[in-house]
Amino acid sequence: MRRVLADTNASRAQPPRAVVDYEELASCWSPGYRYAARVSSDDERLGVEALSAAGLDVVWVESPDIRSGDVISLSPQARSCTVLFRAADHHHALFLTNRCNSYCLMCSQPPTTVDDGWLVEEAIEVVRHVLDPPAVLGITGGEPTLLGSDLARVTRTINEKFPVTRVEILTNARLLGSSALARELLEAIPSARTTWLVPLYGHADFLHDFVVQAPGAFEQTVAGLLHLQQYGHAIQLRTVLIEPVLQELPALSEFVARNLPFVREVALMAPEPIGFALANRDLCAVDLNDWHDTLRAGARTLQRYGIPFMFMNVPLCALPHDLKPYAQRSISDWKNTYAPECNGCDVRSDCCGLFTWYERGWRPAKLVPIKLLEASL
Ligand code: SF4
Repeated sequence: MRRVLADTNASRAQPPRAVVDYEELASCWSPGYRYAARVSSDDERLGVEALSAAGLDVVWVESPDIRSGDVISLSPQARSCTVLFRAADHHHALFLTNRCNSYCLMCSQPPTTVDDGWLVEEAIEVVRHVLDPPAVLGITGGEPTLLGSDLARVTRTINEKFPVTRVEILTNARLLGSSALARELLEAIPSARTTWLVPLYGHADFLHDFVVQAPGAFEQTVAGLLHLQQYGHAIQLRTVLIEPVLQELPALSEFVARNLPFVREVALMAPEPIGFALANRDLCAVDLNDWHDTLRAGARTLQRYGIPFMFMNVPLCALPHDLKPYAQRSISDWKNTYAPECNGCDVRSDCCGLFTWYERGWRPAKLVPIKLLEASL
């Protein structure tokens, strides 16, 4: 979620609204929805105010940062709004809670204990006000399974409004280790359109429980993964490339290949240099160029067993030549940037680049611009 400045005539904070251009308003109008009409002249502004005075739920907004198709929440006192859904982004996510039952060493968004149940209703209203179906809609937190049946309610809202949209749920899967909750959620959430993104940081409890700072988490997550398989749900297993994990990465690959061969794919991810990762910099800040042999060993095992894998948040120049084809442009639009060195790089358009906050943190490797004449991808 991001905040952008906008001038608005709204007099109090309001729930989500669909943004449409003024001239689209009549063709888009649907009863029961709230609109924010983008205006660019006094006439248009007066036109919206006349509609509002006639009882229609519409306000006008003026901002170069808002586009038709966005969903916003107005904060009129500050003459600003929060963009809850930006139609032009490639990655979309609904943030359901900041609460979590783990306390990961490299958590980019440290959990809180405040009651933020209102986020569920906001997410449902955001989905109702999205105009065009996104290809993929992520659900994230905190830990979304803490919401119990409300998680199924959110996914049902998405499925009913956008039957073709794929839902990706980021979860530590610990609560899915419970047979009762697994049955409740995994029967209610349609497996055909859902992928569960589940982090696993080690091949044994001593490592995984240490990384997530929660005794018993390894057994719970593995039980959750087995339940996901039992109910026919797709799984992307995720691991974050911090030092304790890298030390055992080949063993983790072996564990996955032998015990969790049903996962759809494995994502090997560089950490975000923010949140708890900054506090645990000694464990999280690595130069991936120093770990090429380890990355190759982990990747080779997954290849040998036929388990697809990919690198996420890892710049192309941080990978050895043979692993570059497995890198994805994975960093969400709103937190993605490039370093000055990248200006002279021939593969910039294929590279995920860096997290915006890398300067306060670190780079995942020493960046070396790639010249295609010197090295072919
Ligand atoms: S120099 Fe920049 S654009 Fe080029 S591979 Fe490295 S991070 Fe990517």
